[in-house]
Amino acid sequence: MSTESGASTLPARGPQPGPAGVPDDIRTAILARRRFLLTSHSRPDGDSIGSQLAMAFALDALGKEVRIVNADRAPDHYQDFPGMERIEIASTVTTDADAVIVMECSDLNRTGVSGLGDRFLINIDHHTGNSHYGTLNWYDESAAACGEMVFDLVRALGVPLSVEIATHIYLAILTDTGSFHHSSITPRTFDICRQTVEAGVNPAAMARRVFDSNSFGKLKLIGALLDSMELADGGRLAILRMDDHMLKACSCTHNDTEGLINLPLTAREIQAVVFFKIAPDGEVRVSMRSKYDVNVRTVAAEFGGGGHKNAAGFTVTGRLDDVRGHIIDRLVAAIAEGLQSRPNA
Ligand code: AMP
Ligand code: MN
Repeated sequence: MSTESGASTLPARGPQPGPAGVPDDIRTAILARRRFLLTSHSRPDGDSIGSQLAMAFALDALGKEVRIVNADRAPDHYQDFPGMERIEIASTVTTDADAVIVMECSDLNRTGVSGLGDRFLINIDHHTGNSHYGTLNWYDESAAACGEMVFDLVRALGVPLSVEIATHIYLAILTDTGSFHHSSITPRTFDICRQTVEAGVNPAAMARRVFDSNSFGKLKLIGALLDSMELADGGRLAILRMDDHMLKACSCTHNDTEGLINLPLTAREIQAVVFFKIAPDGEVRVSMRSKYDVNVRTVAAEFGGGGHKNAAGFTVTGRLDDVRGHIIDRLVAAIAEGLQSRPNA
């Protein structure tokens, strides 16, 4: 079908999955227990923060005891969201909680928090390749954000959608869809967002708070990063690199790098971005983003990482120079494969 708006040039979407039901064993296990510890992956993003705090406020409403423990502090632009002061930062915990709920985390090791393995574990996640480490596991790859699953769970637990819970669900979806850019979005995504807006969320204020809260240093960093950007594959792949020297020169920290990877994708030709973040100890974290059907998760999986089709990552285990060429070759191949299903690109 052709339309005047040019919609015919956009790739069509296949049949959409319906909302996944909340497993009854998870609902009843939560209702039957009293003391909870919540956690998520290290270096938290909006989905990990939103999922954990929505869950915390829901458990409060049920009269439960809740503790939240994360390995790392969340980036500054999340600090003013409700309940952030409740998050304890620790890499090891001693807990006799009746259950630990791990959300948005593909493997228990990725929490970066030790001391949880002997507890009753509830694993709630949407990452392909989740290792089913829980006592109970609920895994729904069709969810655009783990926050979508938490939304369903909150409702299944009979908890009303307070403005705090709605805010965190919206935060999870807004950030994990790359501000509504990723191909993981379904009608269910908007149905949940509609309900959060009805519950009092202000989408314009949320977008401003999350995306328009840069420091001047970060603007400088954007300039430096784009200035040093390399292109490969005839301009279809962008390569970004950042080290501590660059961060310091702009008075920034690693927390200021969130979202920067999306900048090259605003160029029409660029189909994928790879971002090498080099820590002072030499550790290299690799983040990748892509458009439409270019699958960066399969590339990440080859190097021991994971994620989603349009957003994935891994940590380089050896020297970057030894694998850099191979990573780029694999991305070029993923772009070629992704474009095959998009003849108009
Ligand atoms: P990032 O680029 O760090 O924002 O991560 C993008 C996506 O990839 C997120 O869904 C992460 O959970 C996932 N991801 C990043 N690094 C890893 C890793 N080492 N192992 C598994 N998944 C990862
Ligand atoms: Mn997520």
